[in-house]
Amino acid sequence: MRHRIAVVGSGPAGLTFARVLHRHGHPVTVFERETSPTARPPGGTLDLHEGLGQRALDKAGLLAEFRALSRPEGQALRILAPDGSVLRDWQPDPDDRAHPEIDRGHLRDLLLGPLDVRWGQPVRQVVPGGGDGVRVHLADGRQETFDLVVGADGAWSRTRSAVSPVTPHYTGVTAVETSLDDVDTRHPDLAHLIGDGSLAVYGVNRALVAQRNSGGHVKVYAQFRAPVDWHADLDPADAEALRSSLLALFDGWADPVLALLRHGAAFTHRPLHALPVAHTWAHVPGVTLLGDAAHLMPPLGAGANLAMLEGAELAESLAADPEDLDATVRAFEEQMWARAGRWAALTTAGLERLVSPDPAEAVTFFDEHQPS
Ligand SMILES: Cc1cc2nc3c(=O)[nH]c(=O)nc-3n(C[C@H](O)[C@H](O)[C@H](O)COP(=O)(O)OP(=O)(O)OC[C@H]3O[C@@H](n4cnc5c(N)ncnc54)[C@H](O)[C@@H]3O)c2cc1C
Repeated sequence: MRHRIAVVGSGPAGLTFARVLHRHGHPVTVFERETSPTARPPGGTLDLHEGLGQRALDKAGLLAEFRALSRPEGQALRILAPDGSVLRDWQPDPDDRAHPEIDRGHLRDLLLGPLDVRWGQPVRQVVPGGGDGVRVHLADGRQETFDLVVGADGAWSRTRSAVSPVTPHYTGVTAVETSLDDVDTRHPDLAHLIGDGSLAVYGVNRALVAQRNSGGHVKVYAQFRAPVDWHADLDPADAEALRSSLLALFDGWADPVLALLRHGAAFTHRPLHALPVAHTWAHVPGVTLLGDAAHLMPPLGAGANLAMLEGAELAESLAADPEDLDATVRAFEEQMWARAGRWAALTTAGLERLVSPDPAEAVTFFDEHQPS
């Protein structure tokens, strides 16, 4: 391909895009602000759906490796009431591959493979409309020019402003994340309660979710409705103060459930933001967006899946029709907007029901959507 192509960001969207182009023999420049793949903890486990994330991995030629790395047993889901009673207990069949879990770090390494990422090169701005192409301004002051710049730089994308003035809004729900290590040896009762997959407890306007990653690591998310600055009076480095305020928020919940917070190591504040449900823009030649940069939505298991499929589809289309870059990108955007809009509507309604005044809504939501 004679076109100069760059992607900003090496998350699931950017890496899948680059890897599928690489599979088709096309070079792509990947800019990433982090200084190395391991500069930051990779985050919690991801479930990759057969028709979305797994389809993308198939297009990248990586499905067999994914099957070897992923955890089908992680599809298990147990729902409790705040008093600890079990409301639902779904166990996957041994050959169920509908949406197995994979650690983000394992997925990143799988996608990275032979790719050459330019680590430690944050993009400050993307400027279309120049005679010789789209200019990428790097944070260190250098500029480079490309025929196509793909913004896969996540929720707070620097590329987005080249196509759209819209920024994410606060959903009204905050998540505070903590984690437990070596759960099977250090907290066997909790390990048993969580099982092989996820444990979710729904109360009035709040929820506690624990998800098993590989190696006995468990991520715990406390989610609740609160003003975006609910923690303004708390020192973010003071884990004990955060723990106490969370325990007060979940006061009255069963002891084994609260143990998830009591044993958590450090606490990270993650207010949940989203872009408008149908975020589209007037096509700008030479620039497009993928993944969270295009359609940040509540974290109900779709974001990385969509990001990966979009990356794979755009790369495949560019490889199939390398001549008319602009027509290919336009067609891709139409397809992305339609599918992402449906998922954004579903996950926005889902968040309303999962963190709601009526906890029975959460159970009904899973009854409707959990593959049986
Ligand atoms: C708690 C939680 C659980 C979730 N669980 C799931 C799940 O089970 N399944 C699922 O499908 N989704 C899940 N999601 C959503 C998923 O994490 C995101 O939708 C997904 O990571 C989006 O991928 P992305 O590549 O678009 O963006 P990101 O993963 O955010 O990657 C963006 C990349 O761009 C880089 N970057 C940012 N700015 C710049 C810059 N200026 N210059 C250069 N590089 C830059 C970042 O460092 C990063 O590497 C979850 C989200 C949360 C918060």
